[in-house]
Amino acid sequence: MNSKRGRLVLYSGCSGVGKGTILRQLMERDPNIRLSVSNTTRAPREGEIDGVHYNFVTRDQFLELARRNGYYEYAEYCGNLYGTPCAPVEEMLENGNDVFLEIEVQGGLQIMERFPEVLSIFVLPPSLEELGHRLRGRGTETEEVVQKRLAEAENELKIAPRYKYNVVNDRLEDAVEDILSILHNEKQ
Ligand code: ADP
Ligand code: 5GP
Repeated sequence: MNSKRGRLVLYSGCSGVGKGTILRQLMERDPNIRLSVSNTTRAPREGEIDGVHYNFVTRDQFLELARRNGYYEYAEYCGNLYGTPCAPVEEMLENGNDVFLEIEVQGGLQIMERFPEVLSIFVLPPSLEELGHRLRGRGTETEEVVQKRLAEAENELKIAPRYKYNVVNDRLEDAVEDILSILHNEKQ
């Protein structure tokens, strides 16, 4: 148990830029970091575990929690709902953990409004062409979904300057180091 409240970290970036890959390495390097598990109406990808990667819920279940004001934020992205349930994040912050919200930009803007002190990080691709390679290379989406996500990426990049830190994920090791230094330098 840690007596000091943890920090809330808003962590966004275009789909396929490498957010998940970077975060796994960050969590290995710093055991105090936790990921907030979102609720989503999207279908699980192969290998995704309910309660670990997401809580996979129906649209009705999702909206029921929204009606009870149970989300810090939620948004629709490429036809599916995604939201951050408040209770588990509160508990982790109370326990002194730094909690990463890996969410898209509409939700990100809601978080900045609600928690102006949030530490915000946006992960940029070296280029849109490289982003396309990574999304297709991951092999988890159909070409139609890849196209939707790339179109969305261009809009998201316009919102990136609203985040306090922009980190380019060119070499993975560099991006991980950059984020660790940001966390270190922001420690009060
Ligand atoms: P996101 O969580 O942002 O959607 P992922 O972490 O799933 O992205 O990464 C998408 C793909 O890009 C994966 O196949 C991953 O291995 C690859 N990738 C991540 N970072 C890099 C990097 N720095 N250079 C090359 N490929 C990368
Ligand atoms: P994916 O379908 O690739 O897992 O996620 C699609 C997008 O939704 C990503 O940009 C991801 O960061 C974002 N996302 C995941 N969880 C949440 C959430 O709780 N709220 C919001 N607003 N976006 C989320």
